[in-house]
Amino acid sequence: MYSEPPVVYDLAAIDFDTPGKRHYRLAFHLDSAWGYSLVPLTVVRGAAGSAPGVAVIGGTHGNEYEGQVAVKRLCQDLEAETMSGLVVLMPQLSESACRAGTRVSPLDGVNMNRAFPGNPRGTISYRISNFVKTQVFPRVRVVIDIHAGGREAVFPLCMSFHRLPDAAQFAEIAAAARLFGTPFLFVYSRQMASGLLTDEAEDEGKIAIGGELGSGETVSPAGVRHAYEGSLNVMRRYGLLPGEVRPIGGADQRLVQAPDLEDYRPSPRDGIWEPVAAPAANLAKGELIGRLHDFSDHSSQPIEIRAHRAGVLIACYSAAVCHKGLTLFVIGEETEFPS
Ligand SMILES: [Zn+2]
Repeated sequence: MYSEPPVVYDLAAIDFDTPGKRHYRLAFHLDSAWGYSLVPLTVVRGAAGSAPGVAVIGGTHGNEYEGQVAVKRLCQDLEAETMSGLVVLMPQLSESACRAGTRVSPLDGVNMNRAFPGNPRGTISYRISNFVKTQVFPRVRVVIDIHAGGREAVFPLCMSFHRLPDAAQFAEIAAAARLFGTPFLFVYSRQMASGLLTDEAEDEGKIAIGGELGSGETVSPAGVRHAYEGSLNVMRRYGLLPGEVRPIGGADQRLVQAPDLEDYRPSPRDGIWEPVAAPAANLAKGELIGRLHDFSDHSSQPIEIRAHRAGVLIACYSAAVCHKGLTLFVIGEETEFPS
């Protein structure tokens, strides 16, 4: 008989400790009406051992789907009997945004990936992020947050993370991120925004990994595969799953960094964006990346957007309609993996 996962009203009642697998729907009360955002969470507590915990999160942005699909599949497939340690799975962290298919929550207009560390008395997104900060992070060593470009950007398939002052933590994050087998690993600037889920996790010393595994509000089969198989590889590497790490995709991986905000170029004006260069292209300085069209005068020349420097096109604006100030493209430089 079909039975839905239980609704948990008292979040302290989640059982993270008893061996086994348990599905929950966490009830975060609405701010506007009697009712709840029912946030899915699955606990997989291995039968034996004390491997470090791993959290895998999708749906932090509701219009990015590879993480939602891959983490849901992990909820079905992982078997506690064959595992050690704790896995916490949240396939639709911003459940309201996921149901609406939007980047931010329609309930409070908040971008979940700017809402950390959260607030127990804030609006719904802040209360969910506060739950992750106070109930999930303390139980895990590795935090994986799977994204995709949404309507914002196209990235080559990449796992992403920040440059950190702690060289050992940075090297361990890079090594764990490589287990996803993506052709690119992207080290992005922490100055671009604040309040990210991974900001909070890395500040706590966690192995915090993001990823951009699709674009355009679709489901990329390759992106789902990297998210799913890569998460299993992390569980193998950290001893939660038996067996050796398995290769995913090609052997070549490139580490690209863009530490300077100068390399995140905003659109000079509103327009229709016509990309010319493909993500992952190796650009020469001055090379054409795309054109911005102004249809208020159809006889006008488009603005040619050219590379301000040589490097790798690691992100490019995705949608056609572009507004002044939105990031049009990011150029990074290839660098060595930390040893
Ligand atoms: Zn995202």
